[in-house]
Amino acid sequence: MIDFIIVGRGLAASVIAHTFHQNNISFKIIGNHDLSNCSKAAAGIWNPIVFKRMTKSWLADELISYLNTFYKDVEYKSRTKLITQRAIIKPFVEEQEKILWQKKVKSELSDFLDPEIHDANSAELKNCKLTESYGLVEHSGNLNVSEFLKATDALFEKNLMDEVFDHSQLNVNEKLISYKDITANNIIFCEGYLVKNNPYFNWIPLKPAKGETIEISAPQLKLKDHIFNKNGFIMQFANDNFKVGATYEWNDLTEEPTKKALVELEQKLSQMISCKYQIIAHQAGVRPSSIDRRPIIGLHPEYKKLFIFNGLGTKGVMLAPYFAKKFVNFYLQKEDLPKEVNAERFYSLYANKKT
Ligand SMILES: Cc1cc2nc3c(=O)[nH]c(=O)nc-3n(C[C@H](O)[C@H](O)[C@H](O)COP(=O)(O)OP(=O)(O)OC[C@H]3O[C@@H](n4cnc5c(N)ncnc54)[C@H](O)[C@@H]3O)c2cc1C
Repeated sequence: MIDFIIVGRGLAASVIAHTFHQNNISFKIIGNHDLSNCSKAAAGIWNPIVFKRMTKSWLADELISYLNTFYKDVEYKSRTKLITQRAIIKPFVEEQEKILWQKKVKSELSDFLDPEIHDANSAELKNCKLTESYGLVEHSGNLNVSEFLKATDALFEKNLMDEVFDHSQLNVNEKLISYKDITANNIIFCEGYLVKNNPYFNWIPLKPAKGETIEISAPQLKLKDHIFNKNGFIMQFANDNFKVGATYEWNDLTEEPTKKALVELEQKLSQMISCKYQIIAHQAGVRPSSIDRRPIIGLHPEYKKLFIFNGLGTKGVMLAPYFAKKFVNFYLQKEDLPKEVNAERFYSLYANKKT
């Protein structure tokens, strides 16, 4: 008998699988890539700063320190390059922004902002629309999420069942879980926004947000070592190819790329670059954001063998490794889960649903 069935095949399930493996927790992954496009569409950027408010992102110090350790370990095991550390260029559009930046450099953001104000004249930035000067965010970068998912599939090939999980075939009793011919001590659901189809956890309060990105070919653009952020982002992912994003939409929750988002993304792009480009791909996915913008992790209120790891929202790359570790500490060491992420905070919704 194995310790856990992991349901899902995206970023959450993959990070949980690596963390279980590191802690000698046996598991079988049951998941299919085609049901949700979210992790595959992700740009994979981690950014310690919330630009809108010029504040530090929640738990940025802890999350970034741990994500580097975690993804480097997967790089080593899979012999695949997965992460790229690169600073984020933040152009100053108004003098006020520069003044605020300089203030923050000297106070709470000193660990994450380069103190220098840079002039927009380097060769790398030719064809980027920078009017005057810019600041640099440090300790940022990106995970190649698609490669990470492929590397995970390859490493855990023997633990993988590539299929759609059918909740009606799950048997739950006090001592064990069984699904078809598999028996396990526990099951953890990492289904992203598709948790809405899970009869055990469809009460968790997600507020999913559709997002779209485009990929362009722009041979005249020399932006290689940085991510450029100006009301959107542009980032190189291969030779002359760049990813541009992203949009937010809360009403249309299909995974179809839309004309509306394409127009919005091209508008963002026109504010960021001045050279010719060709669109080579257009992707859409639905982010599993929660109503309080924090992950939802932990135990089912009634069935003590059922667990959830969800609500990664817009920041899965940063959040998943640190909270997968917290989950394992909770499971093995009986450490409390941080209350901000513990599924317990929503147990009243389950109780209401039952009555
Ligand atoms: C356009 C866009 C850009 C983004 N950019 C970034 C970014 O730059 N940085 C960042 O950190 N985050 C980003 N995100 C968010 C990030 O993608 C998410 O936080 C993360 O991918 C969520 O992962 P997940 O595994 O919880 O969900 P999902 O990716 O939705 O994965 C769920 C998985 O479970 C499978 N599944 C579900 N139900 C079943 C079932 N019944 N049977 C079998 N399999 C099932 C699905 O097919 C899928 O493989 C972006 C998202 C979008 C849409």
